[in-house]
Amino acid sequence: MSTINPFLSAMSQLKKAEQVTVNNKQLTGKQKAALQQKIDRLKQPQRVVNVTIPVIMDDGSQQIFQGYRVQFNNSRGPYKGGIRYHHNVSLDEVKALSFWMAMKCAVADLPLGGGKGGIIVDPKMLSVGELERLSRGYGEAIADIIGPDTDVPAPDVNTNGIIMGWMVDEFLKTQRKKAKLFGKTLTKRDEMKLKSTFTGKAIKDGGSEGREEATGLGGLFVLQAILKKLRLKGKLTAAVQGFGNVGYNIVKFLDEAGITVVAVSDSKGGIYVPDGINPALTLECKKKNGYLAGCYCSGSVCDLKKGKQVTNDALLELPVDILVPAALENAVTQENAGKIKAKVVLEMANGPTTPEADVILYKKGVPVIPDILSNSGGVTVSAFEWEQNLKGQHWTKAQVNKKLAHKMAAAAEAVWQASVAHKTDLRTAAFIVALGRILKAMK
Ligand code: GLU
Repeated sequence: MSTINPFLSAMSQLKKAEQVTVNNKQLTGKQKAALQQKIDRLKQPQRVVNVTIPVIMDDGSQQIFQGYRVQFNNSRGPYKGGIRYHHNVSLDEVKALSFWMAMKCAVADLPLGGGKGGIIVDPKMLSVGELERLSRGYGEAIADIIGPDTDVPAPDVNTNGIIMGWMVDEFLKTQRKKAKLFGKTLTKRDEMKLKSTFTGKAIKDGGSEGREEATGLGGLFVLQAILKKLRLKGKLTAAVQGFGNVGYNIVKFLDEAGITVVAVSDSKGGIYVPDGINPALTLECKKKNGYLAGCYCSGSVCDLKKGKQVTNDALLELPVDILVPAALENAVTQENAGKIKAKVVLEMANGPTTPEADVILYKKGVPVIPDILSNSGGVTVSAFEWEQNLKGQHWTKAQVNKKLAHKMAAAAEAVWQASVAHKTDLRTAAFIVALGRILKAMK
């Protein structure tokens, strides 16, 4: 388990943007002081909720799980952010992730704030029934602090539409009870509106077309916009760390866009396939075996002769054009940043690069497209799902993807322009954009 505290990393990222914002020469001393007060408020979550969830296990024993929901900031709209299931979840991690959500929603210019949830659990150790009881328990535990206009959770690492379905079901039960208290029953329309409390739902539960692949597709749109600015063209290669929802989809979209993905990994290790991996076949092979090792699938076949095994560490140092950390925090650190050979880093995970590594990469001239920009496609389509539920609409995939493309292009442009104007790296630029928008909304 990494010892680098992600919340401290997040605060150190904010610091650079804070200095640029407060030291603006056009501001009077009084204005600077007022801004500083607001920024100081932005350094603390507005609400931290700790829940305990007792679950009866399949063998009849009871296990008590710890969970969190952190509501970081709602200046721009309801708290928004996913729920993570992982054995290394900690309060500081959830605090960092919720802060990044506030920044991310502002970069994408969504009318939403930032929140995040997490449960300390290794979901792979649970049966489906145990997972359902845990998820329902968490949904019930946070029901009083969420809602369409207060806090809108979604999937994150190890959670998905099925889990959102269980949670929304528990949430609706509490809402029906409340309505009954006032002698009312909820109509179908009321229920659909209330379902907007969770996004990333299955389509049958009111989910949006395109949500599942939105983070990956948004990442491709952002990458293409930034590659244009960097004038990086030609036959490009990529290595992707992570093969969950985000990892798989970015591999798929890179491949479809003509970028050769030569390596990919999961938590157990990775594969290196110089001819370029076939995403669908690789996923199928991983599902069958339970791991990626040996899944050297390229073209139309999987063949042991087509590739070799790589460790997660070695994957980061491969000679590729684009490195995509799409797993967890602290993948790129001061230990390995100097050894990275990629020309550009596309952060699809949240917080994969430490502040020390950022400095090293900047000095090396390797642009890092920051998480709060590059993985904002997921929450952007979440915002579309929320809007569709509230308006009682269902948009087509083509409509969703068109809107996503516009949002991503605008966000990438704003970040690029800020980096030029302030002669700074893309992460600081993204924070400057986000900070400016949040400060404007703060009372
Ligand atoms: N968990 C995703 C993220 O980190 C999506 C959050 C959402 O859709 O609210 O951006």
